[in-house]
Amino acid sequence: MAKQLLGKEVTAALNERIKADVAKLEAKGVKPTLGIIRVGENGSDISYEKGATKRCETLGVACEKFLLPEDVSQEELLAVIDKVNKDDNIHGVLLFRPLPKHLNQSLIENALDPAKDVDCMTDGSMSGVFTGKPIGFPPCTPQACMEILDHYGIDCTGKKAVVVGRSLVVGKPAAMMLVKKNATVTICHTRTVDMPSVVREADIVIVAAGRAGVVDDTYVSAGQTVIDVGINVNAEGKLCGDVDFAKVEPIVDAITPVPGGVGSVTTSVLVGHVVEAAMRKFA
Ligand code: NAP
Repeated sequence: MAKQLLGKEVTAALNERIKADVAKLEAKGVKPTLGIIRVGENGSDISYEKGATKRCETLGVACEKFLLPEDVSQEELLAVIDKVNKDDNIHGVLLFRPLPKHLNQSLIENALDPAKDVDCMTDGSMSGVFTGKPIGFPPCTPQACMEILDHYGIDCTGKKAVVVGRSLVVGKPAAMMLVKKNATVTICHTRTVDMPSVVREADIVIVAAGRAGVVDDTYVSAGQTVIDVGINVNAEGKLCGDVDFAKVEPIVDAITPVPGGVGSVTTSVLVGHVVEAAMRKFA
């Protein structure tokens, strides 16, 4: 039976570190603040916003919301970004994407000051992930995967790691972060030939394919650590990951559940970035 790598345990430890940093900032008269920019009324954005707001409140971080209509013009949205860039009391910014089609998403994303880019939406932040330079912040989800590995003492040095998925949001940055931890990394995608044999060879597997149960017992082997980034809804309407947990868990050494794994750590990573953004400025 595999050890379950539980998001709540990682989050609890992370939250303690965040609270300690918030206390240091408060001693200097700084209240770390997240600016949330939402265009329209997308249900999943609203639900993520509620979770992030609640987590911020619990950890002593303020939220300032900028709620804009679905038909907001590019100029109006850019003006809001300019305002938050110039506001010394806002330390990090979350902008929900994808944006409505009439807006130039890349231009808008890159209008944000990378120093406030707590969710890695600017090219500046992404360059930081690939170059190792301290520009902006890495994306929260792959960082949540690294937090899980660190928390459970899973050393990546010299290990073979496979990342399933090559998106800019999860797969590619996760691979770079594993390289930084001295793993030897392979990235798999839909054109990978004989993916089961590639994944079976790994010590550490991060799965971010966006397909329920794409990794099953034919992909895994004894001794592996499996981190499941996927968030899907199965035929019964229940949340499930990209890994077939029931088939994989009896074989591997350690595995994250869905729900209760990576997703639950991501929000604390975001709040941690807001606090770090404030620390970089004032500490
Ligand atoms: P994405 O942009 O759709 O990318 C999926 C990647 O997986 C692509 O590179 C694709 O390959 C690859 N892929 C898809 N099916 C595959 C298969 N059968 N075999 C091998 N590779 C396959 O998705 P994403 O944004 O990276 O998200 C991935 C998953 O993570 C989703 O389930 C999403 O809901 C979840 N997610 C979770 C969190 C969290 O906080 N836990 C945050 C963000 C995303 P190609 O490039 O060849 O098409």
